[in-house]
Amino acid sequence: MKTLNDFWKEIGILRSAQSLHYWDLETQMPPMGGAWRGDVLGYFAGKVHSVLTDDQYFNLLKSQSHDENAKIALKDATKYRLLPQSFVEDMTRAQTESQISWEKAKKQKDYNLFKPHLKKMIEMKKKYAEYINPNLNSYDLLLDEFSPNLDQKDIDAVFSPMKEKLISLVKSYQPRHPKTWEVSIETQQKVCQKMIDWMGVNKEQFVLLKSTHPFTLTVHPTDVRLTTRYNEKEPLGSILATIHELGHALYEAGLPAEQFGSPASEANGYDLHESQSRLWEVCFGHSKEFFDFLYQSFKEVDENSVKGLTAHDIYLMATEVTPSMIRVDADPVTYGLHIMIRYEIEKKIFNENLSVDDLPRVWNQYYHDYLGIDPQDDAEGILQDSHWSAGSFGYFPSYLLGSMMAAQMYATLQKKNPKLHANILKGEMKTTIEWLQKEFHQHGRIKSSPQMIKDATGEPLHEKYWIDLLKNRFIEKNG
Ligand SMILES: [Zn+2]
Repeated sequence: MKTLNDFWKEIGILRSAQSLHYWDLETQMPPMGGAWRGDVLGYFAGKVHSVLTDDQYFNLLKSQSHDENAKIALKDATKYRLLPQSFVEDMTRAQTESQISWEKAKKQKDYNLFKPHLKKMIEMKKKYAEYINPNLNSYDLLLDEFSPNLDQKDIDAVFSPMKEKLISLVKSYQPRHPKTWEVSIETQQKVCQKMIDWMGVNKEQFVLLKSTHPFTLTVHPTDVRLTTRYNEKEPLGSILATIHELGHALYEAGLPAEQFGSPASEANGYDLHESQSRLWEVCFGHSKEFFDFLYQSFKEVDENSVKGLTAHDIYLMATEVTPSMIRVDADPVTYGLHIMIRYEIEKKIFNENLSVDDLPRVWNQYYHDYLGIDPQDDAEGILQDSHWSAGSFGYFPSYLLGSMMAAQMYATLQKKNPKLHANILKGEMKTTIEWLQKEFHQHGRIKSSPQMIKDATGEPLHEKYWIDLLKNRFIEKNG
C-alpha cells in the first residue's frame, strides 16, 4: 500500500526527469534530437498527470485533509480530475498548433495567420475555467493560477493608482545620453561568476550556463540550474540577467526539500517568484553601491574593460528610460505600462468578449495612449509575446506584481538594516538571504503570498514602494 509520501516522491522524481530533459533541450541538445525529445517530455507529462489523478492518491489526500500540505494537494488533484481527458488532449494539441502558427505569423508579421488559433485558445480557456469552477469569473480563475489569492479587484486596487504615476514618470525623464561600452564575453563570464560569490550562493547547489533566453530550472532544491546570455555590446545585459536568474534560483534552492513533489516544496506563484528576481536585479542591482561593486569587479578581472569609464557612467547606462515597442527589452519604468496594456486587454477579452478581429486595433491604441508610440507592424505589436499562443492568459500581471512586492521587501530590509547599502558593496548578503528564507522561501505553498507580504513587511501590497524606487533610481540622478 503506497503512502502519501510515496506518491509525492514519485511526483518529485518524474518532475526532476522532466526538468533535466528540458534543461538539456535548452542548453546542449543537438538540433536533430528535437522530435524524439518531444515524445520523451510528452511521456513524462502524461505520467505526472496519471499520478495526480490517481484514485488512491485522491483518497489518501481526502483522508488527511487536516494537514495543510495535503489540503492544497487535494485542491490541485480535484482540479485535474474535473478536466475530461479528451479536453486535456484537445488543449495540448491546440496549444502546439497555436504556437507553431504564432511563430510563423510573427516571422511574416501577419496577425491574420495567428487569429483563428488565438480565437480557439481563448474559447478553450473559457471552457477550461468553466470546468474548474463555473461560478467564478473566468479571468479571476486564470489569474489565480499565476498570482494565487489575487483577483481583478485586488490587482485593480494597486494597478489603477499606479498607471498615471508611471505615465508621468516616463514623461518627466530627462535623456542622459550615456556612453557606450563593449566588453569581451570571456570577461563578462568571469564577472558573472563573481556575482554568484557576491550573492553568497552555495556553489555546490547551482550551475550557470548560457542560452538565448535566460531562465532558471529546478531539478531539486539541491540542484538548481540557470542561464544567462552574452552580448559584447551589452555587458550589463549578461550581469543583470544573471542576478535576476540567481534571485529565482535562490528561491528554488530555499524551498524545503523534505517533501519534494508536494505543495510544501513548491514555489508560491509566479508573482512571488518574480519578486525574488526583481529584488536582486532592480532593488539591489540598480543601487549606487552595486555599480561601485560592479565597476570594481570588472577592474579586477580585466583592468582594460572599464578604461575611460567611471561607476557613475555605468549607472547612467543602466538607468536609461526609453518608451519602446518590445516588452522584454523595456526598462523597469516603462515595463509596468507594457504589463498594464496586456492586463486591460485580457480583461476585455474575458469580461467583455472583445473580438480577435479588434485586438490589434485595441493593442495599438493602448500603446499610443500609454507610451506615446505606434507599432509599425504586428511583429512589434500584438505578436511579440508567446504567452497568448500558449493560452497563458492571466500570466502578465504577475511580472508587475512581483516588482511591486520586491520594492516593498526592499523598503523593509532597509528599515531593518541601516548597513544594508554598505553591505551590498562588501558583498555581505547573508542576512538578506536568511530573511528571505525565513519570511518567504521556507513556506512553499503552505502560507499564501499576500499573507507572507503582510507579515514580512507589516502591510498589504502597496504600489508606493515600486513608484518611489523607480523615481529614486531612474528619474533622479543620484547614482
Ligand atoms: Zn524572472
